[in-house]
Amino acid sequence: MRKEEKRMIQIAIDGPSGAGKSTLAKALAARLGIVYVDTGALYRTVGYYVRSQDQNPRDEAAVSALLPQITIELKYENGAQRVLLNGEDLGDKIRTPEMSMYASAVSSLPAVRSFLLDTQRNIAKKNSVIMDGRDIGTVILPNADVKVFLTASDECRARRRVAELAEKGITDTFENVLADMRARDKADSTRAVAPAVAAPDAVVFDNSEYSFEECVEHLLHLVYEKTGVTEVCRA
Ligand code: C5P
Repeated sequence: MRKEEKRMIQIAIDGPSGAGKSTLAKALAARLGIVYVDTGALYRTVGYYVRSQDQNPRDEAAVSALLPQITIELKYENGAQRVLLNGEDLGDKIRTPEMSMYASAVSSLPAVRSFLLDTQRNIAKKNSVIMDGRDIGTVILPNADVKVFLTASDECRARRRVAELAEKGITDTFENVLADMRARDKADSTRAVAPAVAAPDAVVFDNSEYSFEECVEHLLHLVYEKTGVTEVCRA
């Protein structure tokens, strides 16, 4: 296909925590040669800043007052996303269970959601993207070419999350992770703004019983079927 025939595409992957969104989205981005955007990292970064200022992440007035002090930039190096908070790369400091809860708390505040809206939409204006989060198909990219709502059983998701944390050197028990995950999912899916629900036109995919490779192939077929393209415009 000639370059001028390629087009920008947008793929939205939403779903609860630990459903495998980020691992799958990363693999798909690599196969398609497009940008992977982990939007949870943005909420985690705001949560991190709120924690560093000793503020209550549920207090909208207090959190709103902090937002003008925050600059968040997304950088991409060899396909890996780095999030800079006021110029500093926080690395895995935003990946702790405590930061998951802070992210979930600040993410229910409308002021935080609108603060992060343009950062997310601007990347998708300039690049073909696969973006994972909770409201990508419903709010951020309502016209995405492909929308997937990825789920897996609670136990399966908690097992994966324990392994993911262990890889980062963070030890937590299965029971703790399961309880935290359920609490966070409940808060995320029942909040008033941008709840984590499937868009009406999303394909719901429960991947509990599939291998990682099967999931990648399944989603790649879905992308080809929905977009009709096998080659995309990267930027
Ligand atoms: O995906 P991740 O677990 O890193 O997200 C952390 C938290 O950020 C989620 O529990 C959710 O509350 C919030 N989030 C959100 N909308 C997104 C991505 C994440 O509300 N698009």
